[in-house]
This record gives sequence, C-alpha cells and structure tokens, in this order.
Amino acid sequence: MYNCLIASGVFELDIIAQIHHVITGNTLTMKVRTRFAPSPTGYLHIGGARTALFCWLFARKHGGDFVLRVEDTDRERSTDESVQAILDGMDWLGLDYDEGPFFQTQRYDRYSEVINQLLETGHAYRCYCSRERIDEMRELAVSEKRKPRYDGTCRDRTDPVAGVTPVIRFKTPLEGKVVIDDLVKGKIEINNEELDDLVICRSDGNPTYNLSVVSDDIDMEITHVVRGDDHINNTPRQIHIFNALGATLPKFAHLPMILGDDGKRMSKRHGAVSVMQYQKDGILPRAMLNYLARLGWSHGDQEIFSIQELMDLFAIEDCQRSGSVFDNTKLLWVNQQHMAAMSEQELGVELAKELQARNVDIKAGPAPEQLAVVLRERAQTFAEMADQSAIFYSDTLSYDEKAAKKQLRPVALPVLEALLARLGKVDQWQSSFLKGELEAMAEELEIGFGKIGQPLRVALTGSGASPDIADTLQLIGKDRSLQRIAVAIDYVNARAAQA
Ligand code: GLU
Repeated sequence: MYNCLIASGVFELDIIAQIHHVITGNTLTMKVRTRFAPSPTGYLHIGGARTALFCWLFARKHGGDFVLRVEDTDRERSTDESVQAILDGMDWLGLDYDEGPFFQTQRYDRYSEVINQLLETGHAYRCYCSRERIDEMRELAVSEKRKPRYDGTCRDRTDPVAGVTPVIRFKTPLEGKVVIDDLVKGKIEINNEELDDLVICRSDGNPTYNLSVVSDDIDMEITHVVRGDDHINNTPRQIHIFNALGATLPKFAHLPMILGDDGKRMSKRHGAVSVMQYQKDGILPRAMLNYLARLGWSHGDQEIFSIQELMDLFAIEDCQRSGSVFDNTKLLWVNQQHMAAMSEQELGVELAKELQARNVDIKAGPAPEQLAVVLRERAQTFAEMADQSAIFYSDTLSYDEKAAKKQLRPVALPVLEALLARLGKVDQWQSSFLKGELEAMAEELEIGFGKIGQPLRVALTGSGASPDIADTLQLIGKDRSLQRIAVAIDYVNARAAQA
C-alpha cells in the first residue's frame, strides 16, 4: 500500500491521512502512530530494543499503529544480516508492527521530490563551496573555540558555478528560536543562530539523514517521534524542515541513554548488548521486555509487569529524564520472577525447548515439567536450568573433584552400601516415600541425616549441590540411582586401595 501511495502522489496522501483520523464523538482526533527507525549497521542492541518497546507500548496503549522503518541509507555500513538481526530481535520480543518494514533506500524518488520542493519554495539552496573551503572554515572555528558552522556564502547565490556539482543546503532561519515541548525532557529552546545550514542532499544526489527522516515521518503520518536522546540535536533541524514543508509537527519524546555500570553509554565494552544474546542466555522475552521497560520508566515501585500490564500502564510522562544503568543481576532476578509465575506446563515447555537445543533426549529422563518445578528456585534462566538438568538425562556422570574428595571417603562406604541394599527394595519410587526411607535409615544407623544425604547427593549428581535429595532420587529414577550408588561404592573402594 505504501509504495503505491508514494507513486501516486500527494492527493492520495490526503486520503490516507483521513483514514488515520479516528472519529471520537464529534471530535476528530489523530490516531497515534509511532515508528521505530533503526539503522541496520549491527544487531538489535539493548538501546534500540528499549526504543522499539516504548514506541510499541505507546502505540498499543493508545490503540494506534506502530511502524517499522529501516534506515539503510548508509550503504557502506548497512547489511542484509543486520536487517535480519533486527527483524529477528523484534520477532523474538514479540514487538509486532502494523506497517513495514519500509526501507529508506526504496524511497529515493520521494526524497528527491521533497528536496525539489524545498528548492522551489526557497527553503533550500545549492552550495558550491569546495570541501577544502568547508574544512578550512571548520578548522578555523575549532582553533578559535567556536562551534563550526557554514558561513552562508552560497545562501543568496543565484548563478551556478561552472564545473562544480553542488550540495543542497537547508536555509535555516537566521533569527528566532525553536521550542521543543519534549514529552520526556520537558521544554527545550534552541536559538536558530546556533544551527547550521545543514546539507540535505549530497553532491552525489543522496539525501542526508535529517531530510529522509522528516520526509518519512510526514508521509508515514507519524504523530509521536519516540527515540534516544542522542538524536536531540537533530530535532530542531528537523522541526525547521517540517515547517518549511508546511507539515504538522509530530510530538517528540527523547529517551535517556542506557548506561553501563561505569556510568558511560552502554556499548559492546559492557558485555552482551545484542538482544539475541539474551535469548541464547535463556532470558524470557517477557522478562526482557519487563526489564527494558524499567530502564527509564517506572510505575510506583512495581518491578514485575506482565506485557498486558505494561500496555495498560505505560505512560510517556512517567519516563525519567536521566540515563539508567543496565544491571545484569537485576535482569536475571526479573527473569526468575517471571519463571516463578509460570505454570508447571509452561515451565516444562520452556525447559524442553532448551534441552532439545542442546540435543538432550528428553525421553531418557523425567518429564521436563516435573524437573522444572523442582529446579525453578535454583535457576535464574532456562539455560541455567538446562545445565542443571543434564545429569537427569544422562547415563554418565563426572564428579566434582572437591565434592567427591570430601564426601566419597571410606567412612561413607557402609552408608552407600546400606543405601544400595535398602533402596533396591523400594517399589514406591516417590519422593515422600523415599524421604521416609532415608530418615529411617539415619535412625537405624544412628547418624545424622546429612551423613547419608551428602554422600548420596554426590553419588547421584556428582556435586555437593542439588535439589532436595528425595526429589533428586525420584527424578533420577530407581535404576539410574542404584547404578550411580554402585559406581560411587567402586570409586570409594578404588580410592581406599590407592591410599
Ligand atoms: N536511524 C536512527 C538510528 O538508528 C534513528 C532515527 C530516528 O529515530 O529518528 O539511530
């Protein structure tokens, strides 16, 4: 729909504009339309995902539309893999878009039209100044500690310069100021004299970022531009272009940066910043969204939100103005809270997925949901849970050296032998019954429960840490448990023989 809309011109744009209006009672109000406009020069990172989430939440909360626009005009740095990574990231997070993805590289004709319109209406001019001249101007300004800006040499030029292909500059008003009523940052005022006559079209005919963004935001009927505050310097320039084109201004909301633990802007240096890395790490999309929402937004002191709650409660006014620090420990905690709230069945599905991804044969052990219920308090992610699950599905076991050294000693031999004999006779292989058996054994042998539980734990799991020992027995199953106790007995004997 969108491309034919461009091809057939302005008249149809008006019709679409009307469709985007929603009649409420007698008043005509604009339907909210937001956009996420990533540049595909890398994967979808945490900051981008947070911007996408806030745009999405805002649109969903207001019954509006969410548009995905790929800003791929930097042809050297944009790649198909990055486009795919962004789409995959959005998909994983469940951030569905109502329109798009649109690609700016498919809209060059439209940008040329807009550039011509600006030239024709006197809002832009051709600049023939050489690169050397511009560079000299910049160097001089820097050496004099002034902000570099174009001096306006070609602003009123009427004749072309022979043999020079010009750039096209926007004619920024010389006086006055731009006022932005930013929905997050509040009122921001910029004097026009601080702004340059920015290049909107390079000498090779390619539009620049500010020109293409404004053209798109107008054509796509964007009502709310929600983006990172690294773009705040562009906003007054864009407002001038909107005004020059006679377009209605969208509202702006600039989100504060996400910071690493050193207070600097989050980057690769701070570890995993690709959203898909968190998928690999076993973070649930719902937990990721919850955590991202809290990076810069709050609702009282509530920390855990379902996606529906986020959609209902999200308000752009509740976004904070200053940066927030990305805290991996908290993300894991949020993830665990979401795991804790899952039904047994849902837990089983997630664990099964994780196990299958590791080529574990889930038929070779307990039903994943039974295991997941027991492990959920011991794991913050399904990846961690799957790591802890491996021993329940495998016939081979290796011992943690320290745990084996401590627990599988000759003193444990009578205990392990008694266990083998007693458990071999148990028909009811249920945790509660098994617990009773272990307690009875402790009493008979007149030893503390730990003297049985600890060697048994190492025998069964190879390590000194596991869920409740009776639950562990049940989940490992009778045959495998007996086999492991027998292996532990051999291990102790071999050790005694060596001593
Ligand atoms: N393409 C820009 C970026 O990835 C975003 C532009 C915008 O949101 O206006 O940073």
